[in-house]
Amino acid sequence: MKISFHGAARSVTGSRHLIQAGSSRLLLDCGMFQGRRDQAAKLNRHLGFDPKSLTAVCLSHAHIDHSGILPVLAREGYSGSVYMTDATADLTNILLADSARIQQSDCRYVNKRERRRGKDRITPFYSLSDVQTIAQQFSRTRYGTPVQVAPNLNVQFHDAGHILGSAAIWVQHRQRGQSRSLLFSGRPGAGQYAHSPRPPATSALRCAGD
Ligand SMILES: [Zn+2]
Repeated sequence: MKISFHGAARSVTGSRHLIQAGSSRLLLDCGMFQGRRDQAAKLNRHLGFDPKSLTAVCLSHAHIDHSGILPVLAREGYSGSVYMTDATADLTNILLADSARIQQSDCRYVNKRERRRGKDRITPFYSLSDVQTIAQQFSRTRYGTPVQVAPNLNVQFHDAGHILGSAAIWVQHRQRGQSRSLLFSGRPGAGQYAHSPRPPATSALRCAGD
């Protein structure tokens, strides 16, 4: 199992972590970088991996620094499922639509202000239509229920107690009689694992979060 970090490493926002397990590529979270406009634009437009190469995506919780770039995956050709809990799906639908509207109005304001200085126009990272497309790829899961997301690759969501629907994600990969697992905490809260059994992870991947 190989892990590469494409955000929330030596920084707080933009949680994106790519797991390569055998021939499968699993993305954990697809969050938005939040910060200075120029830096955020660069980091949110360049994902660091090809969305079309992903096998599956899992979302730990709805906060925008974990979910805010999901619509870009759909726009750039990812057609697979995005696994998350029921409540996370409901919240993420609302937050992403809101994010698309804010970007649109922000771009309109900046472009109007900068027009006289001859600067290039800026554009939103995605549109409401991209949000609607990725929402159709949401796959709702329950706490404590194993889900096969690829051959030999299972995930299981466990209550993280951070916000409604938030989860730590246990990832298990089996190949040639061997099993490897890791626990992606997402963003643990005070009630971590309160309502589901603690997963038997062999290694933990804890990410900076909000
Ligand atoms: Zn959060």
